[in-house]
Amino acid sequence: MAKMNKSFLNLEENYLFSKISKRVSDFTEKNPDTPIIRMGIGDVTLPLPAAAVAAGKKAFDEMGVKATFRGYEDSGRGYDFLRIAVANYYKSFGADVPADEIFISDGAKSDSGNIGDIFSDDSIVTITDPAYPVYVDSSIMGGKKVQYANSNEKNGFAAMPCDIDPGGQQGEGKGGQKPDIIYLCSPNNPTGSAYTFEQLKTWIDYATENRAIIIYDAAYEAFITQPDKPRSIYQVEGARKCAIEICSLSKTAGFTGTRCGYTVVPKELRLESPEGKEISLFNTWVRRQGSKFNGVSYPVQRAAEAVFSKDGQRQIAENIARYRENATIIANTLTELGIDFTGGINSPYIWFKCPGGINSWDFFDIMLNQANVVGTPGEGFCKNKLSNNGIDRFRLTAFSTKENTEEAMRRFKKLIETKR
Ligand code: PLP
Repeated sequence: MAKMNKSFLNLEENYLFSKISKRVSDFTEKNPDTPIIRMGIGDVTLPLPAAAVAAGKKAFDEMGVKATFRGYEDSGRGYDFLRIAVANYYKSFGADVPADEIFISDGAKSDSGNIGDIFSDDSIVTITDPAYPVYVDSSIMGGKKVQYANSNEKNGFAAMPCDIDPGGQQGEGKGGQKPDIIYLCSPNNPTGSAYTFEQLKTWIDYATENRAIIIYDAAYEAFITQPDKPRSIYQVEGARKCAIEICSLSKTAGFTGTRCGYTVVPKELRLESPEGKEISLFNTWVRRQGSKFNGVSYPVQRAAEAVFSKDGQRQIAENIARYRENATIIANTLTELGIDFTGGINSPYIWFKCPGGINSWDFFDIMLNQANVVGTPGEGFCKNKLSNNGIDRFRLTAFSTKENTEEAMRRFKKLIETKR
């Protein structure tokens, strides 16, 4: 009989969203006439920008005509037209990223998981906690050892190298093991925090010192508003020597169901071979992708190109502004109530302390049953059970409508005030 990959036995069951759905469906069964507002899911609600729709339609028409039909794309790394558009986009906010280091992908989730293929399976992976669960799960599936950097109230939920957990205790400077891979996400899901230039420089120096590779997830870069926060790690000195950046059109341009993203792999990055020789990480990724990925469809790449056009940028800016407005509504309510939170300024996520410091699942039930609002318990994002960084935190998203966000905040305010 075929044998399973034993590493899968080390995966924790992913109960979060199934547990949420179960509680919500139990509630709706008992209360069929009570309208619920969902502020828990990280999916967008606004449709694709018109420029992307028009470009995608036109490309599909081209595919139906012999003279303009396209089959496999030769490189599988993305058409030049899109890679050049992405490189120009990077340039617009001061990051120098050559088009030939850009790999067009079907989204940030696949690449942030797949990138592990090119690293040794005895690698030590440092992951900030709480985190987008893909980093931990894919590292474990690949047999790698995971250690955590604790994001907590003390560091504004933006973990630094000094927060790497030596194995349970809150880490301060004690350091953990020398990492080979470091996953960072800024702006962060779920905590909404975003690293400053200075903080990222600290991570870059730490990675360089340890000859580790940073895998930087910038899926929410377009939400950054504050000038001291970089939109790309390549705006920070030294990043080209130690960092891969993974990005997505999902949240910035509504591509969650259309699927397109991009990954930047600088040519100067190096990996060590078993014989101790330095080899090109770029060539290794080209080899991996050449064997396992045949590229993103032509119409989707044309739609993505249109996102970077003048019209596309204006249209997505309008959509992002609407999500930001929702984030501000949530943030203002929390400020008014004196509740500690991170996010909402450079991020569509707001991560706040459950009133009274109660457990996040208990607060989930209170929100569902008494305010009829669904959010996400922080505990669900925390894999470092020894530190429980999110046990008393709750995530709301700004991806709902303005009306629903306002109504949810009215109910939330009433709930908190009646409990005081
Ligand atoms: N990275 C982060 C931090 C995310 O929160 C998400 C989705 O929620 C993704 C990546 C996935 O992006 P994509 O839709 O491009 O796969």
